[in-house]
Amino acid sequence: LYKPVAEKELVARVNVMVRLKAAEDAVRRISVTDELTGLYNRRFLRKRLEEEISRAVRGQSHLSVVLLDIDHFKEVNDTYKHAAGDQVLRVLSKVLEDGLRQGDVVGRWGGEEFMAILPNSDAKGATITSERLRQEISDMDLSDVHPDLKITASFGIAVLDGNSDEAGETDSGTLIGRADTAMYAAKEAGRDRVEVFASRSDDA
Ligand code: GH3
Ligand code: MG
Ligand code: MG
Repeated sequence: LYKPVAEKELVARVNVMVRLKAAEDAVRRISVTDELTGLYNRRFLRKRLEEEISRAVRGQSHLSVVLLDIDHFKEVNDTYKHAAGDQVLRVLSKVLEDGLRQGDVVGRWGGEEFMAILPNSDAKGATITSERLRQEISDMDLSDVHPDLKITASFGIAVLDGNSDEAGETDSGTLIGRADTAMYAAKEAGRDRVEVFASRSDDA
């Protein structure tokens, strides 16, 4: 039975569905993306960290959280203007994206602060990765932004051991707090360096 009107109607409905799906995809992408850098945003990082913590506990594996904060970034803005600061954030984001392996997750935690989630990385592995990134950041070519411009960043690492039953370690807020504490220790120690949060299980 040939029904041209019904067929037209069907095509129209499919078109609506295709457009709706595309719109949904766009909203989903935007909701997890940092506008300036194109990296994952804080919302996504929080969610992903919860998932990776569960996975590490189930698989009794390690998980490292790295927070890094650009050193004296206010001076960059003050000296070279805010747009230059924005450009620095974009270049740095590219370095972070390119410098991590498959399975690692990196995003912008806020302002001039970034987070990397490193599944299956213990303190030693996360330190090696962070040291490499730290070096790459201090070697970054920012001559397109300004001829004299150089930056450094300070890193803090917190490690979850999926085998350990240390209280609070599997809480994402605790892990992030520890990475933050280690990052501030790196600032205190002179910046442009990597510090690991020293948990009690490390002392034992
Ligand atoms: P420290 O070494 O202690 O981290 O010093 P700092 O100057 O980096 O730290 P502070 O927290 O004093 O300043 C952070 C600066 O980062 C100030 C703020 O304007 C700048 N910043 C945050 N987000 C952005 C952004 O999206 N674009 C630009 N251009 N600057 C930003
Ligand atoms: Mg900061
Ligand atoms: Mg800073």
